[in-house]
Amino acid sequence: MDILYTNTRDASETVPASQAILNGLAKNGGLYVPTVIPKLDIPVEELAKMTYQETAYAVMSRFFTDFTEEELKTCIDRAYDAKFDTPEIAPLVYADGAYYLELFHGATIAFKDMALSILPHLLITSARKNHVTNDIVILTATSGDTGKAALAGFADVEGTKIIVFYPKNGVSPIQEKQMVTQKGDNTLVVGIHGNFDQAQTGVKQMFSDPELKAELDAAGYQFSSANSINIGRLVPQIVYYVYAYARLVESGEIEAGETINVVVPTGNFGNILAAFYAKNMGLPIETLICASNENKVLYDFFSTGVYDKNREFKLTSSPSMDILISSNLERLIYRIAGEDAGKNAELMRQLSSEGKYEITPEMREQLSTFYGNFADESETAAAIRKLYEDTGYVIDTHTAVASAVYQKYVTETGDHKKTVIASTASPFKFTRSVMNAIDESHDAMGDFELVDELSRLANVKVPRAIEEIRSAAVLHDTVCDTDEMEAVVKRFLRIRE
Ligand SMILES: *Cc1c(COP(=O)(O)O)cnc(C)c1O
Repeated sequence: MDILYTNTRDASETVPASQAILNGLAKNGGLYVPTVIPKLDIPVEELAKMTYQETAYAVMSRFFTDFTEEELKTCIDRAYDAKFDTPEIAPLVYADGAYYLELFHGATIAFKDMALSILPHLLITSARKNHVTNDIVILTATSGDTGKAALAGFADVEGTKIIVFYPKNGVSPIQEKQMVTQKGDNTLVVGIHGNFDQAQTGVKQMFSDPELKAELDAAGYQFSSANSINIGRLVPQIVYYVYAYARLVESGEIEAGETINVVVPTGNFGNILAAFYAKNMGLPIETLICASNENKVLYDFFSTGVYDKNREFKLTSSPSMDILISSNLERLIYRIAGEDAGKNAELMRQLSSEGKYEITPEMREQLSTFYGNFADESETAAAIRKLYEDTGYVIDTHTAVASAVYQKYVTETGDHKKTVIASTASPFKFTRSVMNAIDESHDAMGDFELVDELSRLANVKVPRAIEEIRSAAVLHDTVCDTDEMEAVVKRFLRIRE
């Protein structure tokens, strides 16, 4: 069966997967969604025998129906290889009543690697399929994490270049070191004198500048983005939920067909939406537990039916979840609006003009599979400390939000179904917050001293991603003003000014 993708804000647009991947975002700001969610028509017993790569093919081939078997398998093999520090790719670790699905064994030790290691290959294949001969130039503004994951994914991928702008004084020293040591002739990392919003604005201006587009085209280039709303990032995230379920069956922890719950620490709503799609494919998931930090706009949405971003933005120890507009929620809204693009577009219009919208009671009824809650900063730290003291297992701050919310869920509902918690970052990525949660006296130590102490405490080897930046040479030292961003891009692409 061919799966097509439609625009959540314009029912008249349907495109094949490769076109949706290439476009990223639709022209009117809508997102691409599959017109039907394919069924996972493979017996669990068979899934239980599959490797991660085989599972990836089983899932992605159901969604990306205009890719040939060879194309898709090549993408998968190039993505899920020795860049990951374990052949399992996404191991499942049991600790204190839940199974932690470790999504942080890739190049930048956070879950964005799961999708960003395959997106470049999907993008290049999509370009070829659609007779695009230009090289693809990925342009990204980053507040720290996504930039590095995108750099690692696109580095040395033929037919692509990647340019990342970050606020020179607005990222952590470790994040900056991770980016400026990036290898690959096709990569460029640039610090700007300005904040993240200014970097973002500069990038958006370049994307929408027709003159620049023409100049690029003449030189054999076109821009694209590696944004988290790209369907080419969402579908690869469905894979690990299927894989985790299959592992639980294989190890005899659950019977084939037994339902489980899934907890996801949520920001942009991409990761949990992938779990929802997995459920819709037929994976036996009962409840999707959406865990927020103090920016609890999603918790409020699930409890009241009102999405309201008009509130104070809080900086927390789980920065990748510090988000007030969860872009991927639009795909769920579209779905519960009865796949009515007009109705969805109206709600999104309200969101951009008034900063809020309210869904109807009929729409709310369809959210019964979701449970939302949040954890504040002290609950998050307590979750890290308690798990460490009880089991010796150390989790990062984002995962700790999920762990704390899961405890609230169990207390509230008494539901003890087997549960998978998405573990979205290595504790080594947020070492200081993690170590301070275990014992505040750690705060006196230096960054790498803390890394070594965490390694000793958790009995886990320091990940390669961290070891590398201890000694790696700085390869990028370009710094510019915000009004020089375009000139920097042109110089890198050797386009005359
Ligand atoms: C991006 C990110 C999240 C949030 O995922 P969404 O798909 O945006 O909901 C959670 N934890 C970490 C470590 C992340 O990098």
